[in-house]
Amino acid sequence: MNKLQELKELETQMASDSSLPLQESNLVFGEGSPDTDVVFIGEAPGFHEDQQRRPFVGRAGKLLDKLIEGIGWERKDVYITNIVKRRPPENRDPLPEEIESYKPYLEKQLAIINPKIIVPLGRFSMMYFLPLGKISQDQGKVFWWKDVLVMPVYHPAAALRNGNLVDDLERAFAKLPKLIGKYEKLLEERTRVKSGDKPKAPNKLF
Ligand code: URA
Repeated sequence: MNKLQELKELETQMASDSSLPLQESNLVFGEGSPDTDVVFIGEAPGFHEDQQRRPFVGRAGKLLDKLIEGIGWERKDVYITNIVKRRPPENRDPLPEEIESYKPYLEKQLAIINPKIIVPLGRFSMMYFLPLGKISQDQGKVFWWKDVLVMPVYHPAAALRNGNLVDDLERAFAKLPKLIGKYEKLLEERTRVKSGDKPKAPNKLF
């Protein structure tokens, strides 16, 4: 079974899992290339995402598209999803128990795609990978999570409210193409650190 088929199967499984919270809204599983190196992960679908059953298709999504295109990439070549895959009522923040319920599916989705880089969009998604992180301090910085590089960035919706954040987002996105190129080397260095050759193992890389 290829990655696309595996993802389809996982989506079907999710759609029929009535134990998942927020059943009154539609499942927004995620979309993009399953063979990508980079996965962008938001918080939860909003109104337009729920209507169209696609992630990041509203105003925040338009900004995300612009940021992706700004580094010469196309949306269809990356993968975009959310931590919580159904819309919370009135777009409220997802509850810890909702995040917990959706967790096994996100883990499986990521295991299938097996990206080199995860870009959490905003605080909630960042906290999933870096529970001690602080978005204003850690956005644009690079961390390890398992064997994946994680670079949290501000949520595009936050940048729509505060235009000053757009610069930070653009600077962070500009790092991505180079980061992909460095992945193998960084992983090798990290493995060396793990095996004890070089006892210097900062979680934060740069
Ligand atoms: N905000 C999110 O966090 N996710 C979406 O899919 C849309 C807006």
